[in-house]
Amino acid sequence: MEKAMLRKYAEMAVRIGINVQPGQTLVIRSPLNGAELARECADVAYDAGAKEVVVFYHDEKLNRIRMEKGSKEEMCNIKEWQKIQMLNYVNTEGSAAFLHILSEDPEIYKGLDTEKIDAIGKANSAATKEFRDYTMNSRVQWSIVAIPSEAWAKKVFPELPVEAAVEKLWDTIFKVSRVEGDAVANWKEYTDKQMARRNRLNSLNLREVHLTSKNGTDLHVGLAEDCIWGGGKDYTTGGKPFTKEGIEFIANMPTEEIFTAPHKDNVNGVVYGTKPYVFNGNLIEDFVVTFKDGKVVEYDARVGKDLLKQLLESDEGAVSIGEIALVPASSPINRQNVLFYNTLFDENAACHIAFGAAYPDCVKGGSEMDEDQLKAKGINISVIHEDVMVGSEDMDIVGITADGEKVQIFSDGEWVF
Ligand code: ZN
Ligand code: ZN
Repeated sequence: MEKAMLRKYAEMAVRIGINVQPGQTLVIRSPLNGAELARECADVAYDAGAKEVVVFYHDEKLNRIRMEKGSKEEMCNIKEWQKIQMLNYVNTEGSAAFLHILSEDPEIYKGLDTEKIDAIGKANSAATKEFRDYTMNSRVQWSIVAIPSEAWAKKVFPELPVEAAVEKLWDTIFKVSRVEGDAVANWKEYTDKQMARRNRLNSLNLREVHLTSKNGTDLHVGLAEDCIWGGGKDYTTGGKPFTKEGIEFIANMPTEEIFTAPHKDNVNGVVYGTKPYVFNGNLIEDFVVTFKDGKVVEYDARVGKDLLKQLLESDEGAVSIGEIALVPASSPINRQNVLFYNTLFDENAACHIAFGAAYPDCVKGGSEMDEDQLKAKGINISVIHEDVMVGSEDMDIVGITADGEKVQIFSDGEWVF
C-alpha cells in the first residue's frame, strides 16, 4: 500500500466522512493494525483545526482469547468505565466526532461457544446503548472506514499468499471507496447524484415498496408513517456550537445505499438472501425468510440455520425489520465481484433489509420521540441491527404512493432515475 494513498484515505475519512470542525475533538477507535491510519487521521484532523485527537486501540486476537477462556458471567458484567468511555465525549456541549477503523477477521470466533458469544455481545450492546443513541440519531458526526487485516484479506482472497492478499484488499478498498484520482471531487459528484435520488423518493410519498426477483423473492415492504429516505449525506441534529444548522457527514464509507424504515407490522411475503452473511463471526448462507404482518413466520438456510435462529431470537424486535435499503447492481462493490465477509462493504453491494432496530431519524421528528411514539409510527425497536443482502441483478422494485399509484424505482437491478 502506497503511503500517498493512505494519506488520501485519511483525508477522505476525516474531511469528508467525519467533516471535523475547527475546535472539535476527534475520537478514533482503532484495531492495533490500524495504528498507521489512525496516526495519519490524527495528522489530518489537527491540520483541519481539531482541538484534540484521542485514539482508543483494541485487539481482536486478545478478544478471542478472552472469549475462549474468560468467564461468561464476568464478561457480561460490563464495567462502568466501559459504559462511559465514549459517553464522556458526548455529554458536554459541542460533542466530539467519532471515527471507527474496522479491520475484522470475519471468523474470529470460529469454533467457540456461539451461545456465550451471543450473550456477551448482547451485554455489550445493552451497556453501550446510550452512546449508540447518539450515532443512531445522528446527534454526533461519526464514520466507519475499513483496513485489511491478514486474516480478513486471506478470507477474501484465499488463492493469494497473505502479503499479496493484503495488498489486493487495500487496492480493492481504495477502488470501491472512490479514493483513486481526486477523492474529494469524486465524493462530491457521487453524493450529489445520491441526494437527487433520495429527494425524488421523498417527494413520492411512498407507503410501500414491492421487491421481486427471478429467484423467488416477492416481498411487500410497508413503510413507517412519515418515513424519510436517507443516504448520500447525513446531518447532525446537534451540531452546536460549531454550526447552527448541524454538520454534514457521511456515516459509512463507502456507501451506496438509499434507505428508510419499514413499518414493523406491515411486511409480507418471501425473500431470499443473495450473499452470505456473517453473524457473530460465523456464516449464514442461502437463507429464505417468510414474513407475515411484519414478523418472520418461517425461515431456512443452507448454511447456519442455527445462527439465523439465534439472530431472530435475539429479542422481541429481532423477527421484524428496521431497514430497507436500495443499492443498484452496478455498485462498484458489487462489480468487484468480491465477497468481503464484512457488512460495511457487502451491504453496499446489494439491496438489503436489516433484522432489528430502525434508525429513529428515518421518520420525521423521530430523533425527538420516545420508544412508544416511535413504535406508533411503525419503527422497530431491538438491540440488534443486522443487514442481510437480498438484491439481485434482475431485481425489480415498484413503489406504491399514498394515493395508490405505482412508480417504477428499480428495473433489472438498476435505478430508473
Ligand atoms: Zn443499510
Ligand atoms: Zn443497516
